[in-house]
Amino acid sequence: MKDFLSRPPGNFIGGAWECDAADWMPVINPATGEVLAQVPNSPRKTAQRAISAAADAQPAWDAAGAWRRAEMCRKLADAIDASSEHLAYILCVDQGKPLAQAAGEIGKAADGFRLAADLGKYMTGETIPTETRGRLVVTHRRPRGVYAVITPWNFPVNIPVEYLAPAIATGNAVVWVPAPSTSLIAVEFMAVLAEAGLPDGVVNLVLGEGAVVGDEIVSNPGTAAIGFTGSAATGRRIAERGAGKPLLLELGGNGPLIVRADADIEKAAEAAAVGAFANAGQICAATGRVLADRRIAEALAERVREKAEAHVLGNPLHQGVTMGPLNNQGVLEKTRAHVEDAIRAGARCLTGGKSRPDLGSELFFEPTVLSGITPDMDIARYETFGPVVPILSLEDDEALMSVAKDTDYGLSMGIFSHDVGKAMSMAVQLRAGIVNINERSNFWELHVPFGGGSRTQSGVGRIGGRHTLEAMTEIATVTVPVEGF
Ligand code: NAD
Repeated sequence: MKDFLSRPPGNFIGGAWECDAADWMPVINPATGEVLAQVPNSPRKTAQRAISAAADAQPAWDAAGAWRRAEMCRKLADAIDASSEHLAYILCVDQGKPLAQAAGEIGKAADGFRLAADLGKYMTGETIPTETRGRLVVTHRRPRGVYAVITPWNFPVNIPVEYLAPAIATGNAVVWVPAPSTSLIAVEFMAVLAEAGLPDGVVNLVLGEGAVVGDEIVSNPGTAAIGFTGSAATGRRIAERGAGKPLLLELGGNGPLIVRADADIEKAAEAAAVGAFANAGQICAATGRVLADRRIAEALAERVREKAEAHVLGNPLHQGVTMGPLNNQGVLEKTRAHVEDAIRAGARCLTGGKSRPDLGSELFFEPTVLSGITPDMDIARYETFGPVVPILSLEDDEALMSVAKDTDYGLSMGIFSHDVGKAMSMAVQLRAGIVNINERSNFWELHVPFGGGSRTQSGVGRIGGRHTLEAMTEIATVTVPVEGF
């Protein structure tokens, strides 16, 4: 075991670590290619045991009541803060994001538990008047039971917390399957929660391939509901395999940043650069394409190019580095294919455009700005998930809106314009979960509702603050004859 790990990596089931798997998979530092550790590649039966452990623990956790659960959420938040340096280091070497950004993610994880602690105490029901005299009809909210939670590798702490904290606060138990390429941070994070006193079986961690252990927890009748963040393709499969269970599906996006002719170009360029380059572009709400009025497109592209070139690409542990490597080979290949396809089809590469193996691994990809993009190119049509700003120059507002709407995705979008009334009327016509006006497309806070627009491939349901707690509970009605009602 590497000396920076607090423990041998394993599954965590019913309050016990299991480190005796028959099959193992390597976890690789994306910045160096070094194998950091071997983690279990678990079979279905391990996931089945985790479901049983969660089912055993859940009734007592429900019975503990909202106040005790809120107290536990606060303890978990404090424990995360106390381990923040260690967790940020592991997150940095496992995922590839710069250390300061990793520390920010850990801080937000603690915030997520405090928010759930606050909100969990106020999951109120209602009293409903009836036509029939002498009946008291009340509703209350109860946990769904055992939650299947499957998470991706881009925010391997914050995204799990979006499900774990509300689940714990509302009295559910969880079986959590993280993305294999960020298994190490999942283990270290789980260890912090366990050591802070989370009762055995309330959260169970199972490492392995999504198509095996992820599929098991989705399809097994022992789980009551599903929380999944990942790609649209996997989300569709999960909806089939978990048919009939309540779903929270947070899927992909290809969010446009619409820049009207009257926009503040400097602010729009900053939003495009932050929206596309933060986390090396590996954000579902990233700016996937910039739709610019042709009158300002060139000036905008020039400013975005300057901002791209100001980034420092390099080992994420080093001070001053602002962008680390991509997390894995799959995302590198998609990014490279989209960029090369666009250039072949006539786009101009203003800066970047290639991988930089000389920095330590092939996964380093330069912040890239492309102009001359047309709506039919793959980079305009599909989510890239890498550090690329593709700029489309379009005739007028009508063309901006028509290209913005011509997409299967609807997660997050942005509009820049001095005319806020006009921007507002454009915003309400877009089928995105979030439209940010004069703000980057990936602006979001933990309590704000977030999710895909209906009739899009971007997901089902809303997470964020009370919305996740509501989704993770069901309304139950009780009627009782009471004189006087
Ligand atoms: P992915 O769908 O390939 O994998 C996501 C998770 O699903 C992983 O843990 C994986 O192991 C698991 N999985 C894979 N196949 C499975 C199966 N058959 N059954 C059950 N689980 C399975 O996605 P990815 O490439 O790891 O993540 C990037 C995608 O996630 C992007 O499309 C991105 O937009 C999306 N994402 C969305 C949000 C959001 O909040 N909407 C946030 C972050 C990422």
